[in-house]
Amino acid sequence: MSIGSQQTRTCVKQCEKSGCIGESCFKQCSFSSDGTSAGSPWYMQEPLYLRWKQLNCRSDCRYHCMLEREKEREKLGHGPVKYHGKWPFKRVFIFQEPVSVVFSAFNLAMQFYGWLSFMILVYYKLPLRPQNRKTYYEFTVLWTMYGVFSMNSWFWSAVFHSRDVDLTEKLDYSSAVALVGYALIVAIIRTFNVRDEAVKVIIAAPLAAFVTTHILYLNLYQFDYGLNMKVCVTMGVAQLLLWAVWAGVTKHPSRFKLWAVVLFGGLAMLLEIYDFPPFWGYVDAHALWHATTIPLTYLWWSFIKDDAKFSTFSRQGEANDGMKVD
Ligand SMILES: [Zn+2]
Repeated sequence: MSIGSQQTRTCVKQCEKSGCIGESCFKQCSFSSDGTSAGSPWYMQEPLYLRWKQLNCRSDCRYHCMLEREKEREKLGHGPVKYHGKWPFKRVFIFQEPVSVVFSAFNLAMQFYGWLSFMILVYYKLPLRPQNRKTYYEFTVLWTMYGVFSMNSWFWSAVFHSRDVDLTEKLDYSSAVALVGYALIVAIIRTFNVRDEAVKVIIAAPLAAFVTTHILYLNLYQFDYGLNMKVCVTMGVAQLLLWAVWAGVTKHPSRFKLWAVVLFGGLAMLLEIYDFPPFWGYVDAHALWHATTIPLTYLWWSFIKDDAKFSTFSRQGEANDGMKVD
């Protein structure tokens, strides 16, 4: 801990108590001494409302103490530093990191488009098995769930970058871990071409148990950023390697799309590692990283749809050959 962060901490504590930093005061922080909201009607004395107000007071105090500290640092000729794991951003209305919010929303929209067009393709455009009306493609449910995990994760990412409080942070991190863990399960099942439902469960169960335990540990026991980073990077690198090796050996007709996603996805990860402070107070490495995943998401779902088409035609061929033999 540096002296600087100690200074900021003291500033936040004082601000939460007094509701002011120097001359400027925040209306979210106007509590009377017994913790109730000062001079408000009864419906604004509700515990939940007060709790929400307290959270916003802390958030405002953190923000303005950070600005104060950054001003001082600039005077001394120092560059920006991180606060609570984040760079000092300029706010737009209530949005703390507006650029990350916008890119998260675009990612959400792109995931929804990919997911919906995949569903329309497999259930309405491609033929279904005549016996049970199921898809010929064995990984339909797997990718459908993948879309749900992705959309959930981008939704909470947009919320978290809008307003950073303990609850939104936990929801964002938990959703991201769930997505990375689930995507690893998908990577194993698809690259090893596991078509048997029982084997799929055998692979998924221990990984799902591990990820669930990790999420519970973060939320209920200790929110350990370092440990979480290790878990996420390990699972992320593992799936990237699986796809990369598979892309190298497969004769899949859309393997070029896979190569592009693996290559640019890997390069984009460098943005998370070579973290830099925001340009003009808005665009940092993390926001740019969220931007890169928008086109990659389009390409990724395009690969998944090709995979569904390709598999459907080859399975249909197998089924027809089978009928001829009978
Ligand atoms: Zn983010």
